Amino acid sequence: MAAEIIDGKAFAASVREKVGAQVATLVQDHGLTPGLAVVLLGDDPASQVYVRNKGKQTREVGMHSVEHRLPESTSEEDLLKLIDALNNDPAIHGILVQLPLPEHLNSDLVINAIDPAKDVDGFHISNVGLLGTGQKSMVPCTPLGCLMMLRDYHGSLSGLNAVVVGRSNIVGKPMAQLLLGDSCTVTIAHSRTKDLPSVVRGADIVIAAVGRPQMIPGAWIKPGATVIDVGINRIPKEDGKTRLVGDVEFDSAVEVAGAITPVPGGVGPMTIACLLANTLTACCRANGLPEPE
Ligand code: NDP
Repeated sequence: MAAEIIDGKAFAASVREKVGAQVATLVQDHGLTPGLAVVLLGDDPASQVYVRNKGKQTREVGMHSVEHRLPESTSEEDLLKLIDALNNDPAIHGILVQLPLPEHLNSDLVINAIDPAKDVDGFHISNVGLLGTGQKSMVPCTPLGCLMMLRDYHGSLSGLNAVVVGRSNIVGKPMAQLLLGDSCTVTIAHSRTKDLPSVVRGADIVIAAVGRPQMIPGAWIKPGATVIDVGINRIPKEDGKTRLVGDVEFDSAVEVAGAITPVPGGVGPMTIACLLANTLTACCRANGLPEPE
């Protein structure tokens, strides 16, 4: 029997709707409009699309949206000055610096210059530490979106075996922390993992965050497992155009899994929805208001 398709697009729309309603209440009851600033350096086409989508969706939920598009050659000093100004701008509650940064810039330094309370990407070292120790933090958007879909599908995740393939700071590691926080038994696999197929086969939950098109076939998946495909890979089509695929070979995996997220339409839309939710949370915290649920 084919797997249930987890509709990230529809889920994300419901999250945005809820955020929009909460923003409207904040505006009405407290005269507060949550503000998100996105900083983009250079003209990478994929990043341009992400930033445009983020700005559009931010405005659609009634938030204040600011975009800073800077040349690729921007100096570290100038970027840090901008971040400092945004840190001190009371109209801005969330700051996102679009990664990857040009090579002449030190990403760690730049990210750690963001006020942790405004770090809606959750990459600041303080937020990483808070998440790792189970304290209230800003949670990275992509893993948060994955967790929301998993909780929605499973209810409790307690005791399930989860394998996260990929150990990046932005997806793999925070994903593993979140699953551990929900009492999964967590394995983190990476490029040096021995016998990856058998590691994946032991998982009730597979999170694929590798960046290699369709590398995980259905034959690796335990029957009935839940598969969350974070990968976004562009591959050529026969007609010379391209299409997006995940890190999981969808057509074979859908025959074995119990539930699976598609690419596109799975994790991607949830990431931006969670960015909006984090910005709302940051605004509430900054103003001493109860956090949105
Ligand atoms: P990174 O390149 O930072 O990390 C990739 C990870 O995959 C590394 O830990 C690497 O291992 C591991 N890996 C590489 N090859 C293999 C292999 N053959 N077997 C097992 N593990 C392997 O990528 P990101 O975490 O930034 O992103 C992963 C994917 O998710 C990409 O496709 C990206 O586009 C997508 N993405 C999607 C988002 C969304 O909103 N849907 C948001 C962010 C990312 P090692 O550490 O040993 O090198």
